[in-house]
Amino acid sequence: MESALEFIRICESLNFYNLVISLKASRVPVMLAAYRLMVHRMDELGMDYPLHLGVTEAGDGEYGRIKSTAGIATLLADGIGDTLRVSLTEAPEKEIPVCYSILQALGLRKTMVEYVACPSCGRTLFNLEDVLREVREATQHLTGLDIAVMGCIVNGPGEMADADYGYVGKQPGFISLYRGREEIKKVPEAQGVAELINLIKADGRWVDP
Ligand code: SF4
Repeated sequence: MESALEFIRICESLNFYNLVISLKASRVPVMLAAYRLMVHRMDELGMDYPLHLGVTEAGDGEYGRIKSTAGIATLLADGIGDTLRVSLTEAPEKEIPVCYSILQALGLRKTMVEYVACPSCGRTLFNLEDVLREVREATQHLTGLDIAVMGCIVNGPGEMADADYGYVGKQPGFISLYRGREEIKKVPEAQGVAELINLIKADGRWVDP
């Protein structure tokens, strides 16, 4: 952090202010502390440079993504950060969806459908994993919509987090479709996905893939 400040001062002494500051570290706690300290110091010094966030050398696979998210999202949630990069030991294009997902999960950008789905329990009335996959395959191009898939009517409607549409287990073999918090239609489970599409079409919110 002190080293970054030293370079900032050199740039400023040359009247160069077009800077973006990055304090990446490969350990999340170190990276978090460095950015937070930098924000504090810049405030004290009256500086207002944008910050580029990242957990460098995060590795690959699931843990690389979790590690990157733990660092980047924690700071973004506090309002810290202006640009970001997820650094994975994978093909560069694999980093981009992770960046988009972090921004979407925090509500900072909306670049895909937001799915709300319950984890399933003893009340679940259909195969949640299969149905969520089917719903996603049918609707994933409808960027901007929030769609909930909930296993039962007991807790499902109350926990749909204000989704635009809901697909909720009603009774064995039947599901209910919701628009927001309003129950629109009970249909046999086998027609559930097709009827969900029909409802979205009837509302004028469908676009062909
Ligand atoms: S919404 Fe219903 S099925 Fe899903 S976890 Fe909650 S209680 Fe269980």
